[in-house]
Amino acid sequence: MKKYKPKMYQKDIFSINYNKLKDKGYKLLIFDLDNTLGRPTDVICSKEVSDFLKKLMNDFIVIVSSNSRKIRVSKFLENIKCDYVYFSLKPTLRCIRKIRKKYKIDYKDMVIIGDQIMTDILTGNRRNLLTILIDPISEDLKITSLNRKIEKVINKKNNLIRGKYYEEI
Ligand SMILES: [Mg+2]
Repeated sequence: MKKYKPKMYQKDIFSINYNKLKDKGYKLLIFDLDNTLGRPTDVICSKEVSDFLKKLMNDFIVIVSSNSRKIRVSKFLENIKCDYVYFSLKPTLRCIRKIRKKYKIDYKDMVIIGDQIMTDILTGNRRNLLTILIDPISEDLKITSLNRKIEKVINKKNNLIRGKYYEEI
């Protein structure tokens, strides 16, 4: 069950202590898109989030990883000049392998931030990235509702309680 447990759990992307991550030597942040950076219905990234990501890009390599199609991801990020991986196939290792190869950064120096245990957290834990779970921004699309049911069972086993945020780094 440990592979499903995030190393950190925070309310949203703004609640994470990025200075601490920088001090600890983390170099690259991978953000999930849907329900992490925006609602699944948001076509373009909000100004608040895009300004925030741009600021983070001064200290980290910032990459967005989504299981969605290229058109969805590129449109969402059109105001942000950050790299992205579409059709990530999380929880397979396709996305993080690709990033490691391109940026030549060890998995241990990467952070993955997302709202789903079964995709984002599992992907990161499989290669020991720093995994950070956040609360989903909005109600889920039907496609993820099965994952959510499984998450509930797993979280109970892992003693992870929604709203009880923690930081284990
Ligand atoms: Mg998501």
